[in-house]
Amino acid sequence: MPSDCLFCRIIAGELPAAQVYSDDSVVAIRDIAPRAPTHILLLSRKHIASVREVGPEDHELIGKIFAAGAELARREGVATDGYRLVVNTGRNGGQTVDHLHVHLLGGRPMAWPPG
Ligand code: AMP
Ligand code: ZN
Repeated sequence: MPSDCLFCRIIAGELPAAQVYSDDSVVAIRDIAPRAPTHILLLSRKHIASVREVGPEDHELIGKIFAAGAELARREGVATDGYRLVVNTGRNGGQTVDHLHVHLLGGRPMAWPPG
């Protein structure tokens, strides 16, 4: 685990976060700067810098992250109206934390295309 990784430190309990879900593969927290009424981050427990570094050994993990996102959307009451799962990747993708995470955004209509 990279000791300087923000999300690794949150997963390890070294930094505080509003955790809403945890299992053997995923930790979900509320985004500190929410962009929608529901804005949850699904963090991979395993440190993977971005989607670019995902390997075949991670395929089950990726499935679990998305399944947890769908379950949390139901729990948050945004599933029926719809929501967005977002994975920013690299500089042009707008990624600011180099630890694989999926944004769950819901509770309002989303524009398309994103900015
Ligand atoms: P991204 O820009 O896709 O890499 O997403 C990183 C997200 O992490 C942003 O939406 C930030 O608001 C969020 N964030 C940064 N620091 C924290 C923190 N300490 N706790 C919760 N969310 C954070
Ligand atoms: Zn990390």
